[in-house]
Amino acid sequence: MPPEFEGIRVRMAPSPTGPLHVGTARTSLYNHLLARHTGGTYVLRIEDTDRARSTVEHERDIIDNLHWLGITWDEGPQVAGGDDIGPFGPYRQSQRAELYAAEVQRLLDAGSAYRCYCTPEELEAVHLEQEHRHEPPRYSGRCRDLTDVARAELEAAGRRAAIRFRVPAEVVRFSDLVRGEVEFDNALLGDFVIVRADGAPLYNFVVVVDDAAMHISHVIRGEDHLSNTPKQIAVLRALGYREPVFGHIPLILNPDRSKMSKRKSQTSITAYREQGYLPEAMVNFLAFLGWSPGTEEEVFTLPELADRFEIEHVHKAGAVFDLARLDYLNGVYIRSLTDEQLALRLRPFLPAALEDRTVLAMAPLVKERLVRLGDVTGLVGFLFESDATVATWYEAAELHPKGRGAQDAEQALNRLQAAIEPLPDADWAADLLETRAREVAAEMAWKPGDLFKPLRVAITGRTVSPPLFGSMELLGRDRCMARIDDALRKLEAEPVSASPATDR
Ligand code: GLU
Repeated sequence: MPPEFEGIRVRMAPSPTGPLHVGTARTSLYNHLLARHTGGTYVLRIEDTDRARSTVEHERDIIDNLHWLGITWDEGPQVAGGDDIGPFGPYRQSQRAELYAAEVQRLLDAGSAYRCYCTPEELEAVHLEQEHRHEPPRYSGRCRDLTDVARAELEAAGRRAAIRFRVPAEVVRFSDLVRGEVEFDNALLGDFVIVRADGAPLYNFVVVVDDAAMHISHVIRGEDHLSNTPKQIAVLRALGYREPVFGHIPLILNPDRSKMSKRKSQTSITAYREQGYLPEAMVNFLAFLGWSPGTEEEVFTLPELADRFEIEHVHKAGAVFDLARLDYLNGVYIRSLTDEQLALRLRPFLPAALEDRTVLAMAPLVKERLVRLGDVTGLVGFLFESDATVATWYEAAELHPKGRGAQDAEQALNRLQAAIEPLPDADWAADLLETRAREVAAEMAWKPGDLFKPLRVAITGRTVSPPLFGSMELLGRDRCMARIDDALRKLEAEPVSASPATDR
């Protein structure tokens, strides 16, 4: 770390041009972990210079989801009408125009930047020529050294000027925390625009001004920004700023190793949240997209990650987004919850009318099977849907025990009904129901599994379900009896040709 900086100061600079992206969440997490690991300071800055594409809704989505993940910052913009937090605000670029104007003027005065009057059509014509000659596209330098007279003429003709940075033709080297020594020949760049003709200052300029003004010591961001870094180093040198340490973390890839994109993968954190991924699992998963502790351990809480995370151990190679791993971790975290905790997490995914104690009673039934909280309705929908609805979920043939037909299904259901109906209310409990059902299986000399199948389908509407007898306890005698009656009616109505059915 350059000695001039007081402690480590890192930042996260999301653009509110879309909802919080998985890649941005991972970058935020790494910055958070670096700050917490080193006792440094973490700054959130909203990069909303692109006025046309930035929205308040996206900013809210970003901030809300960072909160949800538990990624906290020490300095950042005011939210919900409060004040900016920290001494270097405002923390939204849209509110920092004066500073940018002053710094542009310094560049113009020093001759490090100049006004460029080229029209989009003129620039396009040059690009086409370059393409034709198989040259890389770059600014021709046409307005680089205009005389005062020529400039006055262009202005008199009503031309509006963009401002271009005069890139020194030199090789820029920096030591990247992740990628090691990096070298770029800035002579290949061409002068780039830092303020558009409409007055809007652009990313490669404002990011440098803000990182310096906010005393950022370490710039940790995605590898997609690697090619911006030599431009930014050139600008910061021209402005006389200190150079931060850079670290570019690997791209996140689709399973086919292409860059993760909206087209191929779900990229917004909100979408994962809505499906019922736990923030603990998401954070754990994101941390491993490009980093590992160097051991076999794979389950880490946020504080444990902060304890172990070393930016130098971030990998260079792209990190594949493996949904199966996220599912696995989500299951691990779901199973680590108490029934009460799980019930609270399930609440938003279930009908509001469902009583709290019913949700609590469901929790242990689904805990072992849930991959995502949102799957709960599929698993336990039979508990709150009407008997009539559940009866529409299956065909009569699905009631047939393995290798047997409709008559056997009917017999099984009748025997089971007769065995459990007389149970006193106090005994309408999973273990007693199971004992009775197993007794019936023994009397009929059937395998218990064969006998339970028609019962499971009658009660839950599905051939795969949460524990059957626990579900029956929760459903209560009357509804169980009604559902067995529905199933028997379905069997009676079944065309004879449908049996014996093949097992499904
Ligand atoms: N606003 C940029 C982005 O969202 C930040 C890049 C940076 O960290 O410098 O990609």
